[in-house]
Amino acid sequence: MFKAILIDKADSGQNVALTDIEDERLPAGSVTVRVAYSTLNYKDALAITGKSPIVRSYPMVPGIDFAGVVEHSDDPQYQAGDQVVLNGWGVGEKHWGGLAGKARVDGGWLVPLQAPFTLRQAMGIGTAGYTAMLCVMALERNGVKPESGEVLVTGAAGGVGSVAVAILAKLGYTVAAVTGRPQESDYLKALGAHEILDRAQFSEPGKPLAKERWAGAVDVAGGHVLANVCAAMRYRGTVAACGLAAGMAFPATVAPFILRGVTLAGVDSVMCPRADRLEAWRRLASDLDPAKLDGLTRDIALDGVIAAAGEMVQGRIRGRVIVPVGGD
Ligand code: NDP
Repeated sequence: MFKAILIDKADSGQNVALTDIEDERLPAGSVTVRVAYSTLNYKDALAITGKSPIVRSYPMVPGIDFAGVVEHSDDPQYQAGDQVVLNGWGVGEKHWGGLAGKARVDGGWLVPLQAPFTLRQAMGIGTAGYTAMLCVMALERNGVKPESGEVLVTGAAGGVGSVAVAILAKLGYTVAAVTGRPQESDYLKALGAHEILDRAQFSEPGKPLAKERWAGAVDVAGGHVLANVCAAMRYRGTVAACGLAAGMAFPATVAPFILRGVTLAGVDSVMCPRADRLEAWRRLASDLDPAKLDGLTRDIALDGVIAAAGEMVQGRIRGRVIVPVGGD
């Protein structure tokens, strides 16, 4: 038996509860992992609250991330005792996920724990942090360098945003952080933000083109926020777009793209190829200051996850949440 959050269909929506599950009910997969730590991502919060149709089949154990120790493996790449990390691949959406004492998955979905991170730190990073790294890599791929000019991060006090600010600052970029929570200004400055901007400046419909300001941007918001960010990009600047915290719509014009040569680089973590994942984790090991990581994480026990999911969809969680499950 192991403990897990379980989402089941109900007449009016869904039931979510912390429950005990027999090992025999684990889904098919080549590697069984004892989960040491999981985490709460925005997508998990949407799944647990039922705010968006994330869950594809019921009953579902949510949790798009886990870090743990291999208990049994039919995959020659892994042996019992190996420390592994999982991010995405539809886990927690259509395959039972990481907010549980055990998980069973396809060995090809796992990556070995990246040194020098601990299992706990790997979940401090989680999909949000690994996506932040993918966004920074997208900016680099498109030629955005620290000397190119200021870069912007939206949703900065959230998970992706906090890690993106910390990485970009460590790499030497001048980072402006957009937040709807001015009370988090000191937190964002401690992560390395040079300037704090009020989200309200970005949330209303704007002009197709605004004064050129940003050489690069990481956007977690979508909606008018993304449209306004694109409008204020410098000539040949790049926006890495990964989120929809402000909405799925993209109410913009093509003006920034055809008149300023702006690149809109989409970032997906779920189906990201293995080589890029391994590269992102290597880069996190070199470009994310562990002290900054400690400063942006907090623990929430498995029995507190359902309440925390409600807070997260309201944008009230700061930084990253670690969920200790079995521990080290
Ligand atoms: P969090 O909940 O931790 O952070 C989201 C942040 O967005 C909030 O903290 C808030 O920051 C900001 N925000 C909330 N509402 C709005 C709004 N209406 N307008 C503008 N900003 C808003 O989530 P994550 O950081 O984990 O994820 C951020 C987004 O990225 C989500 O949409 C998520 O689904 C997406 N994502 C996508 C991935 C991919 O593979 N493409 C992978 C991981 C995440 P503040 O208070 O500072 O304003």
